[in-house]
Amino acid sequence: MTVKLYALNCGTLEFDRRSFFPDAPRGMAMRVPVAAFLIVHPKGKALFDTGMHAEGIRDPDAHYGKDLAKYFKLFCGAGEGLAAQLQLIGLKPEDITHVVNSHFHFDHCGCNGLFTRAEFFVQGAEMRVTREARAADGRPDRDWDLPLNYRLLEGEHDLFGDGALVIVPTPGHTAGHQSLRVKVGSGLRFCLAGDACYTQEHLERDLLPSTGAVWNADEMRRSLGVLRRMRDREGFALIYGHDDAQLRTLRAAPEAFA
Ligand SMILES: [Zn+2]
Ligand SMILES: [Zn+2]
Repeated sequence: MTVKLYALNCGTLEFDRRSFFPDAPRGMAMRVPVAAFLIVHPKGKALFDTGMHAEGIRDPDAHYGKDLAKYFKLFCGAGEGLAAQLQLIGLKPEDITHVVNSHFHFDHCGCNGLFTRAEFFVQGAEMRVTREARAADGRPDRDWDLPLNYRLLEGEHDLFGDGALVIVPTPGHTAGHQSLRVKVGSGLRFCLAGDACYTQEHLERDLLPSTGAVWNADEMRRSLGVLRRMRDREGFALIYGHDDAQLRTLRAAPEAFA
């Protein structure tokens, strides 16, 4: 069984450092990578997250609304972005069979609409709570709220039934956040944490982001504990959601990093 794992560069985001590190000094910006991952398995080609919408990068005020867009600057250089990264590997969107969205924030589901042939795997809680929030503010979401083939999960799910790709709930950042455990052909085991843990520093310091990025603090802290146990007791290498230093160490597409 050969399973390969690729890191895909989906651009960068800039915002106030305090939204990641609430104890940082005021007025400092930080810029972090936006990543998606491709897993090539004998039974299919799966994505973990889909980066940012091209229209959102071109005109954030129009695409996201000014209330959200004012907090961020979005960047996507030549060759970056999900479609360009897949093209580097020689794949088209229609080659993707499975998409796992960690959650429905704009930097994790922006290109969902490209994958009309894929089956999407999302926790039911994520769909319910995000839909309710959208209904309340009357703004439909053009990133994920589309006629795609969504399968709603309630808990863990083994994507191919062989233990190679296992979705695990890691709620707290959002109501239905999930991470993905990946066992590659070499025997190494990874856990793609998504925003359940932004950076290694958050794990080491048991640190939660600012309250605006926390749906439920108790659950998010519990999920940090789940990730820490995976790393310390089960030998998983954690890949954090937006850790610039770590992502730079991963071999870039078109090569697999594991
Ligand atoms: Zn998020
Ligand atoms: Zn994120």
